[in-house]
Amino acid sequence: MNLDLHEIQGARQRVRRTVSAASLGSEGGDEFEVTGEVTLDLDVRKNESTFRLVGRLDAMLDLGCSRCLERFAWPVRVNIDMLYVSESEDVGDGDVRIEEADVNTAFYRDEQIDLGQLMHEQFQLTLPMKPLCREDCLGLCAVCGGNRNTTTCQCTNTWEDPRLAGLKNLLNR
Ligand SMILES: [Zn+2]
Ligand SMILES: [Zn+2]
Repeated sequence: MNLDLHEIQGARQRVRRTVSAASLGSEGGDEFEVTGEVTLDLDVRKNESTFRLVGRLDAMLDLGCSRCLERFAWPVRVNIDMLYVSESEDVGDGDVRIEEADVNTAFYRDEQIDLGQLMHEQFQLTLPMKPLCREDCLGLCAVCGGNRNTTTCQCTNTWEDPRLAGLKNLLNR
């Protein structure tokens, strides 16, 4: 999904896009899945050949819990502030040299900004390190593998603190 920069006539223009999850397609290897619609609401500010995109991205992702492995919904609502510079200007005399460390700067080519890529990157950035279906997810039983959020298994944890075991021996004497 591209933003055709020929469409941006004035110094400032509102760009709104709503796309279905299906039309985004999925790039294999993602830890998330896009569900429902994705809304991109941008204020595009043009300054010669530089375009600044400021706005918001709303979406619903589907993630796997890192403890119990169940899928759960992860709403995404992120603010966007990206600067797009024409790729062809990067080869010059360092005038428009962009530091790679500057994550908020990206390149466009052929007068097109790849909004699909922008969204994908924002999704990646918003993902939690350890996704949890809920803060107090109980995870899986280490013995039977049952989901402890939904089942109460009879497994007992056989590990005993050796110090407590020593105390027990004392008491049993
Ligand atoms: Zn969980
Ligand atoms: Zn169990």
